[in-house]
Amino acid sequence: MPRVRLSDLPRHLFDVTPGGFWGIVVGWVLAVQPVLPAAQPPAPSPPRFPVTGRVSYGPYHHDYPATDIFGRCGARVVAPADGTVLEVGRRDRWDPATDRGADRGGRFFSIAAAGGVRYYGSHLWTVRPRLRAGTTVRAGDPLGRVGHSGDARGIACHLHFGISPVCRGTGDWRARRGVVAPYPFLRSWQRHGHRSPAAAVHRWQARHRCR
Ligand SMILES: [Zn+2]
Repeated sequence: MPRVRLSDLPRHLFDVTPGGFWGIVVGWVLAVQPVLPAAQPPAPSPPRFPVTGRVSYGPYHHDYPATDIFGRCGARVVAPADGTVLEVGRRDRWDPATDRGADRGGRFFSIAAAGGVRYYGSHLWTVRPRLRAGTTVRAGDPLGRVGHSGDARGIACHLHFGISPVCRGTGDWRARRGVVAPYPFLRSWQRHGHRSPAAAVHRWQARHRCR
């Protein structure tokens, strides 16, 4: 077999001019690149049970639909779903003398998640530093610690967990504290299920219009 030496190949093969071999390669890359798919946003995370460690909770809540998840004081509270933080309350403003509805949750967070679902967690011991309105969270991200702030003062540490439509987004404490019972969804997530409250939230919103 005759050996091919570099000097035998046509010189224009190595030119980076538009007609040269590399020029054609570079031109093809530049021409084809824009039609390749853009980087995809990350796939949605599976839902997560919002309290770590040993917990106890039941299907009933006083007065309105919500779930009190009892756990160890200081246990980690995590985001149940991917979303954007709507509100964070770092100061416990509850005063038993006035018992204002908006203050009963003590230290709290609310998150807007996919499908127009809002998650609310309250009575926290602490809220994660630097968590604020607009912060993007992924399911499982730490949000704070289980406590007994607000009107849970003096009773066992628990996370009050509420599900509602986003509604006004901020300040609407009556809807925010919970309008759809979280129990069946919490049971699913605890068993690594993916049950979503979106349909139940939409049904409530169609009937009540956030009032
Ligand atoms: Zn509660």
